[in-house]
Amino acid sequence: MTRIAIVGAGGRMGRMLVHAVHQDEDAELVGAVDRPGGHWVGHDAGELAGIGPIGVAVTDYAETVVPLAQVVIDFSLPDATSSVAAACQSEGVALVLGTTGLAGVEQDAIRRLSASVGVVQAANYSTGVTLLTALVEKAARALGDSVDVEIIEAHHRHKVDAPSGTALRLGEAAAQALDRDLDTCAIYGRQGAEGPRDRKTIGFETIRAGDIVGDHTVLFAGDGERLELTHRASSRSTFAAGAVRAAHWVAGQPPGLYDMKDVLGIG
Ligand code: NAD
Repeated sequence: MTRIAIVGAGGRMGRMLVHAVHQDEDAELVGAVDRPGGHWVGHDAGELAGIGPIGVAVTDYAETVVPLAQVVIDFSLPDATSSVAAACQSEGVALVLGTTGLAGVEQDAIRRLSASVGVVQAANYSTGVTLLTALVEKAARALGDSVDVEIIEAHHRHKVDAPSGTALRLGEAAAQALDRDLDTCAIYGRQGAEGPRDRKTIGFETIRAGDIVGDHTVLFAGDGERLELTHRASSRSTFAAGAVRAAHWVAGQPPGLYDMKDVLGIG
């Protein structure tokens, strides 16, 4: 039995996670946290998730909930990351982090935490995207500098960060395989008289519209042919299932910073 607390429990992903943990016979939901002073505080987490009352009230005080858990699953906003990491560190509790758009200071807090407990951090917890990342590495290595690499992603209109964390992770996978530095070779959107494309760049295009759960395409375009690797998520339940799988896995791991490839055993 893995004791799990969820941060961001009132959000789109948080509700899915409450559902997924509650359904899992090998997991126990020991706490649910949301934004301090937020609308969801005091509500029963199960009612928010649409599964009826489960006796776990949403609180805005992570420090009371973290000690009850073996693993915290955090899908909230970057402003929660540092305090959640600090609470996990002082209690020796593992973390599964889904929040994207972290700044350097928050990423540093995660790195520090991973020196004392197991941390899984993935921009995308779906099995399909984890496999897509591995396929992108393989394709980039095989195609080398003979193709232009472009990453196109689409998400719902409420998403706040762009490009998506998954698109950036796919870009890093391609850049690493091509021996490039993503920080210097990435081009984010194009407008006006930009001139011909430099083959050594990696382009990102972002779409924000409607209720799209998450689409990612990595395009390798050469002369006379192109390869498109696409993943489409049709339900957030795939991310929730992956995060709960990661929580069970990390509960038994030594300290370290892991990703979903490690969880699936293809790291
Ligand atoms: P959302 O806006 O629906 O939910 C976020 C929730 O976090 C809200 O309920 C909000 O009140 C709460 N929150 C905000 N600040 C908080 C704080 N300081 N402490 C505790 N709770 C706080 O967003 P969402 O669509 O559920 O996505 C949440 C995050 O997860 C985003 O960063 C998103 O990019 C990421 N995400 C990751 C994956 C993945 O597989 N890694 C998949 C989907 C979404």
